[in-house]
Amino acid sequence: MSGGAPIAELVQLLSRLPGVGERTAQRLAFHVLGESPEYAGALGESLAGLHQRVKRCGRCGHYGSAELCDICLDTRRQDQVICVVARVQDLLAIERSSNFAGRYHVLHGLLAPLDGVGPDALPTAALRARIEQEGVREVILATPLSVDGEATALYLSSVLEGSGASVTLIASGIPHGGELEFTDQVTLDRAFEGRKPI
Ligand code: ZN
Repeated sequence: MSGGAPIAELVQLLSRLPGVGERTAQRLAFHVLGESPEYAGALGESLAGLHQRVKRCGRCGHYGSAELCDICLDTRRQDQVICVVARVQDLLAIERSSNFAGRYHVLHGLLAPLDGVGPDALPTAALRARIEQEGVREVILATPLSVDGEATALYLSSVLEGSGASVTLIASGIPHGGELEFTDQVTLDRAFEGRKPI
């Protein structure tokens, strides 16, 4: 590594980002250095304040800048249907497909017994409370079609038994192990249309 300690430090930090290897990190670091100091300052400030400025919605777990997110505050959406997703990126992918008009519940993770992530890490008590308080009639599980995603869907269906809401799982069609984020809109729409009781 050439360029001195400050660049080496930046390259090391950037290379921890997903999909960024050392060579890409190096390219990014030199790019920032080639830009104006104001750009580097704005980038640094944006990163430094990220955790303070972004809040998790108290109702669904989506990210926003207030106590409740924009989706929870939207009165045109239906309270009776909740779509459960593992990550905020999945919620955004479903929003892009634009046919779902219910609410969400973001797990911020999946069951991963091999990595020591058990049921306690999932916000299932909050989900059950919402079903009761908000008169939810259907919970659509849009967890990824991976080993952890399927284990989570099965676990949730057992936890939600007797909750009064029917539990459905989005249809396959999404490539196995594939992430919702990278699924095209037609496939995602069909997966929703073809959802089945679990
Ligand atoms: Zn929300």
